[in-house]
Amino acid sequence: MQDNFQREINYLRISITDRCNLRCIYCMPPEGVKSIPHQEILRFEEIIRLIQAAVLVGIRKVRLTGGEPLVRRNLPDLIRAINSIPEVDDLALTTNGTLLAPQAEELKKAGLKRLNISFDSLKPERYRYITRGGKIDDVLEGIKTALALDLKPVKINTVVIKGFNDDEICDLAQVTLKYPLHIRFIELMPVASIDWTQENYLSTEKVKMVIKNQLGSLQKMDKLAGNGPAKYYRLAGAKGTIGFITAQSNHFCASCNRLRLSSTGTLRPCLYDQKEVDLKGALRKGASIEELAELFAYTILYKPKGHSLTKGWPDKKRVMSQIGG
Ligand code: SAM
Ligand code: SF4
Repeated sequence: MQDNFQREINYLRISITDRCNLRCIYCMPPEGVKSIPHQEILRFEEIIRLIQAAVLVGIRKVRLTGGEPLVRRNLPDLIRAINSIPEVDDLALTTNGTLLAPQAEELKKAGLKRLNISFDSLKPERYRYITRGGKIDDVLEGIKTALALDLKPVKINTVVIKGFNDDEICDLAQVTLKYPLHIRFIELMPVASIDWTQENYLSTEKVKMVIKNQLGSLQKMDKLAGNGPAKYYRLAGAKGTIGFITAQSNHFCASCNRLRLSSTGTLRPCLYDQKEVDLKGALRKGASIEELAELFAYTILYKPKGHSLTKGWPDKKRVMSQIGG
């Protein structure tokens, strides 16, 4: 379905849990965020019903995120059920990767095609610092397992933070010379209650310049599977690619194709807009699939033309992990 600005909305990101085993500094406060009671979180059968409604208005791509989606029990059951909805032609997962290695094979068997893994430093101590306690070996094992199982393309999400990991830009970019990984440098976004501020922001233009100056020219590539906002390049002779996501410096609102479903069943037309529609309420009152599809259509028509992130994070009540990054 098209929204009021002629954008084809075909992508639904679903936060399947607000819980996480890490506490990344840019995502949540040190004490974590108060867990939402289980009964308020969408059950798997409710998520499936909502996807069945979403496909009626043209949703074809689904991404599971969180919080950390791999902390949710029986995740392969959900993946299997989503895969059995014929209209869904792309199913992906965004994870911190630390719980991936032991689960990856079952997730693949259930039908998971591809993964994005968040990873911000090659140095064990820094990794532990930014995740407030994460062990780098766990995520490295997860990445290796994803490659071994051919969960392609394996995309790595790296948030660039001036004064923290900007001295690792070239080391991270060089990983693509040896491995078929797709390292995506993401601009830091101002999120509620995080320590880092605009002073720690480094633009994509500057990151690109560092790579070009030190590693040579970047060849522009076609899009990878997943039609997201990243632009991809390759270093000469590399097995993988380098992507850039200009979350702050250049909004991709004009081509935004997504809706976001929170773990408590509210549907947002835009990450940076607090407007949301309560689908869980309708669902639990017995709404039919067609009635739920109408609520999806209504939300699509409310999708704003754009947002202004430079005004800061708009949601004073919730942080990124609660909405689903
Ligand atoms: N736990 C999973 C993970 O870390 O991949 C999924 C949820 S996490 C909220 C999704 C993505 O949001 C991660 O890639 C993370 O790096 C990104 N993210 C969180 N806070 C951010 C911020 N302030 N700026 C830019 N990206 C951020
Ligand atoms: Fe957890 Fe992902 Fe947020 Fe890190 S970015 S705290 S792993 S939800």
